[in-house]
Amino acid sequence: MSDILKHALIVGGGLAGLACAGRLHAAGMETLILEGSDAVGGRVRTDVVEGFLLDRGFQVFLEAYPEAGELLDMRSLDLQPFRPGALVFQNGKLRRVMDVFREPRHLLGSALAPIGSIADKLRVAFLKWCVSRMSNDEIANHEDVTTERYLQRAGFSKRMIDGFFRSFYGGIFLERDLRTSSRLFEFTFKMFSQGSATLPAKGMGENSRQLASRLPAEAVRLGAKVAEVRENGITLESSEQLAGRAVVVATDASTASKLMPSLARSAPTWRSVTCLYFAADRSPLGEAIIALNGEGSGLVNNVCVPSDVAPGYAPKGNALISISVLGLPEVADLESRVIAELDAWFGKVVREWRHLRTERIQRALPEQSPNVGMIGPGYRKQGGVFVCGDHLWSASIEGAIISGKRTADAILAKA
Ligand SMILES: Cc1cc2nc3c(=O)[nH]c(=O)nc-3n(C[C@H](O)[C@H](O)[C@H](O)COP(=O)(O)OP(=O)(O)OC[C@H]3O[C@@H](n4cnc5c(N)ncnc54)[C@H](O)[C@@H]3O)c2cc1C
Repeated sequence: MSDILKHALIVGGGLAGLACAGRLHAAGMETLILEGSDAVGGRVRTDVVEGFLLDRGFQVFLEAYPEAGELLDMRSLDLQPFRPGALVFQNGKLRRVMDVFREPRHLLGSALAPIGSIADKLRVAFLKWCVSRMSNDEIANHEDVTTERYLQRAGFSKRMIDGFFRSFYGGIFLERDLRTSSRLFEFTFKMFSQGSATLPAKGMGENSRQLASRLPAEAVRLGAKVAEVRENGITLESSEQLAGRAVVVATDASTASKLMPSLARSAPTWRSVTCLYFAADRSPLGEAIIALNGEGSGLVNNVCVPSDVAPGYAPKGNALISISVLGLPEVADLESRVIAELDAWFGKVVREWRHLRTERIQRALPEQSPNVGMIGPGYRKQGGVFVCGDHLWSASIEGAIISGKRTADAILAKA
């Protein structure tokens, strides 16, 4: 047994582990994060490739996230906003639909855009009003059905659900069936209504780096893959053993259920996504907006140009294009097929784009069925070991941070 007796051992340095460690450290409790990979951040990391900032899959930070907003220093993240709305590719054209409460000059254009009826657009306004008046606790206790059922009940037409919600929320939930919990839909819809979707100026990985920078260097051990956990200690794959007063498993749900066989029954199915990055001389969009596939067919779900949102994502004079394809399609030459598909959206210029990288993310989000998320304390304690992570609240940056913070509070309450 090593003689290092830390007060808290945290397995996993994703946002949940970092949020937990930060709170324990701030309360004066010594902590050690054991991170199996070569850097902290977990699913929120950014790689630099030829001067381009490539997030590990397209993600956005919603500036209205209450707990993440409280924990992170938003000013130093230097959040750069997307415009509130989308361009929807339908019937051979990109059509603009804006949030007219935030960009009222688009009232007429958005009302007349053939993405849903005028009644659908009034329903969006009504829904926005309803969710904005609900507290997050009320949302967490609201009846939970699938998002599709919820939208049908709210009276949205099939045209609006198929042409807009499936691709917009498909990009967030990483599934177009809209089988995700309506509570998560309500929460996300509220966040989109109350603030912008943003990218930190230096990439999504800045969220993780900022949290890690608040810990002493010796509080994070990289390349430290944990093989076993128990109430007062862990064993690394290298067979080294460490003892701790509290042990927290802050890994993804599948790893947690391997380390804690009592959780095995709750191991999730995963939603996967493939993100393709291309470099271009010019942005095909020319503005900080997301473009959606409203056709109901094709590989591409959404396209954006992160360098239009935050110029630091690409070297000067270049544009970075990010394309999301849901799942892990097993097609030969995915890159060429995606380019061929986007020819219809942007024209022949797409043939000049240069492929930078394709990220295939098998474990992107745990399945989030109705009546699973936003329930309970946001962490578990089994056999004396604490478990936290996005799978115990909601599969999001906010959910991971809530879970990490609450776990730390539970440990401190017992200290
Ligand atoms: C492509 C994609 C798009 C997304 N889009 C958004 C979005 O737009 N907005 C949003 O809010 N959220 C989004 N999310 C979700 C969000 O990123 C995650 O919910 C959140 O980052 C999960 O954090 P976590 O700490 O719970 O888990 P993780 O990030 O998975 O962290 C777990 C950590 O544990 C480590 N680990 C695993 N096993 C071991 C072991 N045996 N020993 C030691 N360490 C181990 C891992 O290396 C990892 O660092 C997206 C996620 C993905 C992948």
